[in-house]
Amino acid sequence: MAKVIELRTIADLERLGPKFVRKLLRQWDFAGELRDWAGEASKLGIPWETRHNWNEKRTKYRFHPSSFKHKCDMKLFFQLVGGEEKRKRQPKQALFDTGTAIHLQMNYYMQTMALYYDWQYDEEVELWKGSAAADEYMMCGSADGVFEREITIDGQTYLIRIIIDWKSINSAGFTKLGDTPGSDYSKQMHGYMVSGDIPITFVLFINKDNSVFKNIPLLYTPKIWDPIGTRLKGIIEKANNMEEPIKTVAGHCTSCAFLEECKPKGLRKSMSRGRRSTRREPRL
Ligand code: SF4
Repeated sequence: MAKVIELRTIADLERLGPKFVRKLLRQWDFAGELRDWAGEASKLGIPWETRHNWNEKRTKYRFHPSSFKHKCDMKLFFQLVGGEEKRKRQPKQALFDTGTAIHLQMNYYMQTMALYYDWQYDEEVELWKGSAAADEYMMCGSADGVFEREITIDGQTYLIRIIIDWKSINSAGFTKLGDTPGSDYSKQMHGYMVSGDIPITFVLFINKDNSVFKNIPLLYTPKIWDPIGTRLKGIIEKANNMEEPIKTVAGHCTSCAFLEECKPKGLRKSMSRGRRSTRREPRL
């Protein structure tokens, strides 16, 4: 019997080559597996309980990978030095909560499938805890899920470790999806992949209007990670030297949780230049 090939770490990905791994993943209909399992789990009547911490507190004194997309270094600096976050009332909070509920549905599929087939699956994994890479770059954050299983493709069995990220969107967004999840998601997921030394993320999009799934695999690449790592190191150095980084003041400041602590100068001017929305912004 052929030896099982491991694809569990970034070094495994580099050894096998991203081109080969991409080709391999194209032959795996993971979204189809999940769709079929939804029917199977219902037929088998598999029960599952979950304990989800709704509105969990955010970790302080660490960078959040979901913020890597932000242009403002000062925002990341505030995360690192434990700035006072003032969460605003979200006009679209119920929409975010719907997304959370869909995460629970998808986790039900993954948990029960892993149990049935004897795979390893963990949800809400804090990959940064105990990670030397996460400590080096001062990252935190939880991945939606991590699973490890064997899959046989073209007669060869692979043991693969993968991060899962669920994204629920409407039909209009779903029809526009391409072959990559977009650079904002990619940056965030690289934070998790580096923290957990995991080579692959499956970004699984769920169309909220008809429950159709689409999986977009994302591989670790230094091209995306290296500039992020350099940026984080630069902000850490500034914090160690008690220096503030440059503030990127723009319309995004109005929704920044550190706005009150930051008190950026020239905000109104840049907003009037950069804003396209007709929604009224709060008086500053
Ligand atoms: S308020 Fe604006 S300038 Fe200040 S940290 Fe937030 S995004 Fe940066």
